[in-house]
Amino acid sequence: MRAFNFSAGPAALPLAVLEQAASEMLDWRGCGMSVMEMSHRGREFTEIHETALADFRELLQVPDNYRILFMQGGGLSQNAIMPMNLMRGAKVADYVVTGSWSQKSAREALKYAQVNIAASSEAGGFTGVPPFSEWQLSDNAAYLHICSNETINGVEMFDLPDLGHVPLVADVSSHFLSRPMDVSRYGVLFGGAQKNIGIAGLTIVVVRDDLLDRALPICPTAFEWKTVAANNSMYNTPPTYAIYLAGLVLKWLKQLGGLAAIEQINIEKARLLYATIDASDFYVGRVQAAFRSRMNVPFYLADESRNADFLAGAQARGLLQLRGHKSVGGMRASIYNAVPIEGVKALVDYMKEFERSQA
Ligand SMILES: *Cc1c(COP(=O)(O)O)cnc(C)c1O
Repeated sequence: MRAFNFSAGPAALPLAVLEQAASEMLDWRGCGMSVMEMSHRGREFTEIHETALADFRELLQVPDNYRILFMQGGGLSQNAIMPMNLMRGAKVADYVVTGSWSQKSAREALKYAQVNIAASSEAGGFTGVPPFSEWQLSDNAAYLHICSNETINGVEMFDLPDLGHVPLVADVSSHFLSRPMDVSRYGVLFGGAQKNIGIAGLTIVVVRDDLLDRALPICPTAFEWKTVAANNSMYNTPPTYAIYLAGLVLKWLKQLGGLAAIEQINIEKARLLYATIDASDFYVGRVQAAFRSRMNVPFYLADESRNADFLAGAQARGLLQLRGHKSVGGMRASIYNAVPIEGVKALVDYMKEFERSQA
């Protein structure tokens, strides 16, 4: 029997997707090969690649003047490559620090840019997003970077600032395709696939055309968005199996009714879980209500000496990978698209039962 999996990433995949991948593993639609064995330039893989691109564009409503790149290296690498791709002719980059991931990205950018921390919620323990009116933007920033869902801290940004001509760059690794996003508000958005879109190995970048010409000369060719775009993500071998798997997830999302439909399910899952935390003093959530992530729900037991018992009981009920990130402790339930509402119901039932058992 399959357990309910609350991993922060790599994370749960839809059962239907795994079943289809299993059934096609040895022989993809009668071609006599596994997807893993195909040339990335062959007819079969070209179809897989183009279909995934088209489905992604349709689901996220990506406008025509944006390119979709299928790269490797994950969110971490993309945060490092991004300044190299955008800093030509500029000195300063603005960063808003709302948790572990944006903090890491700002530090990495110091290698390539003068970094201005336009706002930070570190002093408050990363429990929210400073109001836009307090952001101290530079005059000539190459871009402003945000991480709009802080996976470790559980802080999600539901509104976007208006930056005028400065491109907004967003690391959306842990809430990509969890809800509709207005792509036209961004210069660039990117994320690894292993949280909401598939398996580790694929990183998806959505970049506006006019930003493809700003790379520093030191940017490695294989990591230059312009080169990747000009070669339709085939400058070097793309992560073929990860693209195939993402393609299956995209079809699954479309069948569910697309991003507006999955958003409603995600809202309900998050509501159930936060309501359970709020209803009791036994559990504590620290993120301000307006910024509570719908994807990553960190919570603490008021009495942390019970942590090990809580996790053992959860494991015994098939509720897996609930331990919080080592840097913040406590618990974290990641409830990405592929975690069904039944999983969240099983979790809140267990939380109530565990609390009663400790009385
Ligand atoms: C997981 C994550 C990353 C890192 O992804 P890797 O694939 O490990 O490089 C970066 N940013 C955010 C917001 C993440 O959730």
